[in-house]
Amino acid sequence: MFLNELADMNDAEHRITKALPKMMEAATCGELQDALENHLEETENQIDQLERGFELIEEKPRTKKCPAMVGILDEGDEIVAENKESPSINAAIIAACQKVEHYEIATYGTLCTWAKLLGSEPAAEILQEILDQEKEADQNLTDLSLAKNEEALEEAPV
Ligand code: ZN
Ligand code: FE
Ligand code: FE
Ligand code: FE
Repeated sequence: MFLNELADMNDAEHRITKALPKMMEAATCGELQDALENHLEETENQIDQLERGFELIEEKPRTKKCPAMVGILDEGDEIVAENKESPSINAAIIAACQKVEHYEIATYGTLCTWAKLLGSEPAAEILQEILDQEKEADQNLTDLSLAKNEEALEEAPV
């Protein structure tokens, strides 16, 4: 179960690296673009960290399709497409990205607990580091959302 879930997140992170550049391109706010670019770099690093996690438990790195991330990213594409050319575009991107972060926070929390229970403290440490990055990314998006939701409200046609 632990290995399958690790492989699931490896797949999810790969999908996120493909989705983030599209979100950056759709964003019209420089600060949001910077936040997404920063998290793209972190995400690429997380893939390396996950590979390291597999090695620590003497397994080959692998992926297993994460249907949840496929769905969350599909929904993200949809909300972004629906709000192109709208003052709500940045708020839409933040909403979509926070769904991604929350799925990651839930799963890395579980993985971290399982690594400890299975007696792999080094793997647990890596997973905790990734979990902390996901929580920080989510918090940054919440901070940005205050201004972006305001902008959307002010500029939206009544
Ligand atoms: Zn801006
Ligand atoms: Fe991630
Ligand atoms: Fe999954
Ligand atoms: Fe993330």
